[in-house]
Amino acid sequence: MIFDVAIIGGGLPGCSAALHLRQRHASVVLLERRRCGSQASGVNYGGVRQQGRHEAELPLARRSRQIWARLRDLVGDDCEFLVTGHLKLARGDEQAHELERYATMARLHGLALDLLNRGQLQNRYPYLDGEAIAFDASGRPHPFQITMRRFGRRLKVEEMRGSLPIRAFFFDCLRFDALSIADRPARERFQALAEAVPAALQIPRLVTSSEAAASAFYEAALAAGHEGLMAKSLDSPYEAGNRGASWLKIKRAHTLDLVVLAAEWGHGRRTGRLSNLHLGAREPASGEYVMLGKTFKGLTDAMLEWQTKELLARETHRDQWTVYVRPELVVEIAFSDLQASSRYPGGLALRLARVKRYRDDKRVADADTMETVRSVYAVTLPGALAAPPQASK
Ligand SMILES: Cc1cc2nc3c(=O)[nH]c(=O)nc-3n(C[C@H](O)[C@H](O)[C@H](O)COP(=O)(O)OP(=O)(O)OC[C@H]3O[C@@H](n4cnc5c(N)ncnc54)[C@H](O)[C@@H]3O)c2cc1C
Repeated sequence: MIFDVAIIGGGLPGCSAALHLRQRHASVVLLERRRCGSQASGVNYGGVRQQGRHEAELPLARRSRQIWARLRDLVGDDCEFLVTGHLKLARGDEQAHELERYATMARLHGLALDLLNRGQLQNRYPYLDGEAIAFDASGRPHPFQITMRRFGRRLKVEEMRGSLPIRAFFFDCLRFDALSIADRPARERFQALAEAVPAALQIPRLVTSSEAAASAFYEAALAAGHEGLMAKSLDSPYEAGNRGASWLKIKRAHTLDLVVLAAEWGHGRRTGRLSNLHLGAREPASGEYVMLGKTFKGLTDAMLEWQTKELLARETHRDQWTVYVRPELVVEIAFSDLQASSRYPGGLALRLARVKRYRDDKRVADADTMETVRSVYAVTLPGALAAPPQASK
């Protein structure tokens, strides 16, 4: 057969060229050695942007943008094309001038760009704090480490978007109407959040002094598959990166993510391996680690092997039995109780502690602190909310 045009390669440009040639009644053969769209055209970030394009590319980008808007007419499907906008931030005057120059040039090509000053930007995009949660098919949240699979990903982004959908939820508002409100009490920030963000994007919240209502809210959170609740003081300012005493994590499962401070050499079958772990949590006020107990339970042979290597690489000093290490490894510990203790410096000791797993998805800054340990102790006491013991340091 004789064709007017032969196209080699079924990426977007090849397929698009074939489509438009056919529309102009040319006979076309498209030769693809694998599958159409399986190479660069099928793995890209999907950005159909115009802003930032080189001046020479802009006329093409403008034209193609109009074609993308007509996709359904052209190919019978909108190909999930979504117009979301594109924000470029200038970090300093020089970059701001550069963007102004660009906007003037782009206007000549019919691309109208909004230039926002600092106040306008903050008005339009109030600073929010929130988190992303991935849900399973039944609508229950996935554990954190599964959610983390979506972050920093460059490959198979689209595939993961389908298999691990993620949603953003906001719980704080730090800037509103061009004003920083980070120092304002939480009750005011929550009000600003309610104005800035639709209810469906806000973390569910209950303000109550009723213990029964609070318990029912907590039970509902657990029933929905969440780990627990954060209890926050309505009077507290926002403290970046420091949750402090005005933010308490309330979770039922007696597990804590603790930091390994040292390990003792094992005996018998474990001879030559570092086994009994010294566990601690950071005291936010002093920044020091406070030891809460020891355990060698729950460690498999593979974990013993791994931790011996990792701990020796972090050794600071040792004595006859124990290797002391830099506090860098986070480990999830299950335990039966926290009990008051005069032996340990934080006044609290873990009972029947057992290693569940190493949290290689967590940094030590994300491990549970003594604040959390004390709050867990408080809520596990009969009558709850009894004053937890203070550190004796
Ligand atoms: C990670 C990534 C992110 C990107 N993000 C963006 C973005 O956000 N916005 C944007 O505009 N662009 C983006 N791009 C660029 C864009 O995807 C490519 O410029 C575009 O898809 C190139 O299309 P193409 O048809 O030239 O190549 P391809 O899509 O790779 O198609 C070439 C086709 O030719 C076939 N082929 C090769 N040799 C032969 C042969 N001898 N016989 C038969 N068939 C053959 C291949 O199998 C392939 O299917 C991105 C690219 C990548 C890799």
